[in-house]
Amino acid sequence: MSADAGPAPKAMQRIVIAGGGTAGWIVAAGLAKTLGKVLDIKLIESDEIGTVGVGEATIPTLVTFHRLLDINEQEFMAATQATFKLGIGFESWRAIDQNYVHSFGMTGKDHWTAGFQHFWLKGRERRLAGDYGDYCLELKAALESRFAHLPRGGMNYAFHIDASLYAKYLRRFSEPLGVKRIEGKIVEVKTDPVSGYIKSIRLDSGGEIEGDLFIDCTGFRGLLIGQALHVGYEDWSHWLFCDSAAAVQTESVGDALPYTRSIARQSGWQWRIPLQHRVGNGMVYCSRYIGDNEAKKFLLANVAGKPLIEPRIIKFRPGQRREHWKRNCICVGLASGFIEPLESTSIHLIQRSIIRLMQMFPRSPIQQSDIDEFNQQMSSEIEHIRDFIVLHYHVTNRDDSPFWRALRSMDIPASLQHRIDLFRETGRVFRVPNELFAENSWIQVMLGQGIMPQQHHPVADLMGDEELRQFLDDIKSSVDRTVVQLPRHQAYVEQYCKAAER
Ligand SMILES: Cc1cc2nc3c(=O)[nH]c(=O)nc-3n(C[C@H](O)[C@H](O)[C@H](O)COP(=O)(O)OP(=O)(O)OC[C@H]3O[C@@H](n4cnc5c(N)ncnc54)[C@H](O)[C@@H]3O)c2cc1C
Repeated sequence: MSADAGPAPKAMQRIVIAGGGTAGWIVAAGLAKTLGKVLDIKLIESDEIGTVGVGEATIPTLVTFHRLLDINEQEFMAATQATFKLGIGFESWRAIDQNYVHSFGMTGKDHWTAGFQHFWLKGRERRLAGDYGDYCLELKAALESRFAHLPRGGMNYAFHIDASLYAKYLRRFSEPLGVKRIEGKIVEVKTDPVSGYIKSIRLDSGGEIEGDLFIDCTGFRGLLIGQALHVGYEDWSHWLFCDSAAAVQTESVGDALPYTRSIARQSGWQWRIPLQHRVGNGMVYCSRYIGDNEAKKFLLANVAGKPLIEPRIIKFRPGQRREHWKRNCICVGLASGFIEPLESTSIHLIQRSIIRLMQMFPRSPIQQSDIDEFNQQMSSEIEHIRDFIVLHYHVTNRDDSPFWRALRSMDIPASLQHRIDLFRETGRVFRVPNELFAENSWIQVMLGQGIMPQQHHPVADLMGDEELRQFLDDIKSSVDRTVVQLPRHQAYVEQYCKAAER
C-alpha cells in the first residue's frame, strides 16, 4: 500500500535537499556518489541564515563512511584542519578529579564465552591486574599523545574537524558529481492538498523548486518535516537535562591532544576539541540551573587559549522526531532531533540516515512498509544512544550541586536500568542488533562511572594465578611496546595532513 491515498508521485528522480549544513552536504555527497548518474539533486541553502557552526568531534564510523565515498583522508584532513581522535577523556564525571577515558579501541582479549572484563575482574580480585585501560592500545596512545596508522586497522580512530570547513569540503566534493546548489531563503513549503506530499519549495527570490523526494536538513527549524508536515517531537528532557550550549573558539596552546576532553561541571559539562589551527570549546548546560550569561562567563574563565570570537549561545531540545520519514520527506541531522554532543554521535546519525536511505531508496509509489522500517530502525538506534548518554549522568557519585543530585535520583529508561543491573550483578554486557556502541564502550563507561561487577564468568576461574598473570602481562606489554614506538600525535599530523596556512 502506498503512503496516504492520492495521486501517485512521479518517479523518484528529482531530489531536493533543504539545508546546507553538515547534514545537507553529507546527504548530497552520499547521494551524488552512489546514485548521482540517475538523479537530479538540488541543494538549497541560505548564507544569510548560516549553519549551527558546531559539531567538530566525530567517531570511527566517519572513517568507514569516507571510504565508501572514496574520500582521500589526507586531502580531507588538510582541508578541514583536522586532527586524530582516539576517544573521549571524561574528567570529574564519576566524582570531582576522578577521570577515565572512553577509547575507540578493543580492551584485552575476549574468550568466546566471556569478554576480557571477566578475566580482568578475576585478576583484580587476585591483585594481578592493573587498570582496565592498561590493556587498550588506543587508550594508552591517547594519554601519551601519540598516533600513527597501523597495519590491518590496528589503531581505531576518528577525527576532530572544523565544522564549517567540512561542509565546504563536501560541497567541493559534491558539485562536480552533479549536485546543483541553490542559494536562497525558503519561505514556503507547498504540499499537495490531496496526498499531503510536498510538491515544491518557494524561495524568497520568487523561484520555486519542485521535487519528488525532499530531504529536510534545515537544522533545528525542521521547516519541512515539522512546520509543513507537522511531525511532532518526542521530548527526552526528563532524562537529558541539558538544553543549552555556549560555544567559543580559542587559539591553540601547546600540541593538539588526540582525544576530546569532556569535563563535568556543576550544571553541565565542558568540551575541548583540538584542531590544527584552533581549539573548539563549549559548555553544555541545563538552563534551569545556570543562566546563559553565567555559562558564558564560566566558559571564558575555563579555556586555555585566547578567545577568537565572542561566545555564542545555542538552545536545543533533547529528543527525536516522532517520524523520520513521512510521505515524501526524510529529515536528517538536527531537523530529525538531537540528543546532545557528549559522545559525538550526531554526525554518525547523519551518516546512518543517508546509508539507510540508499539501502531503501524508494521507487514510485513510496511504500509505507519502507517508511515504517526506516522509522523503526532510526528510532531504535537513537534510543540506544540515548541510554548510553543517560548512563554518564545518572551513575555518578557527584552530589555537589542540585543538577547532579537530580540526575542521580531520576528514573531512567527500563532498557538502561536492565543493562546497569546486568553488568553490576554479573559483569556481562551484550550489544543489541542495530546498536552503535559495542560492549567495550559500555564497559569502559560503566567502570569509569564507578560500577564494579559483583561476579565474573566461571571460565576466568579456570586460569591459575601464573597463567592469568602471564595472560594479562602479555597484553599490557604488547600495548606498552607499541605505544612507545608511535610518533607524537602533533608530529604525525604535521607530516601527514598539515593544512595550508590561513
Ligand atoms: C552545542 C552542539 C555541539 C555539537 N557537537 C557535536 C559533535 O561534537 N559531534 C557531532 O557529531 N555533532 C555535534 N553536534 C551536532 C552537529 O552540530 C549537527 O549534527 C551537524 O552540524 C548537522 O547540523 P545540520 O546540518 O542538521 O543543521 P545546520 O548546521 O543548522 O544547517 C541547517 C541548514 O539549513 C539552512 N536553512 C535553515 N533555514 C533555512 C531557510 N529558511 N532557507 C534556506 N536554508 C535554510 C541553513 O542555512 C543551513 O544551511 C553538536 C550540536 C550542538 C548544538
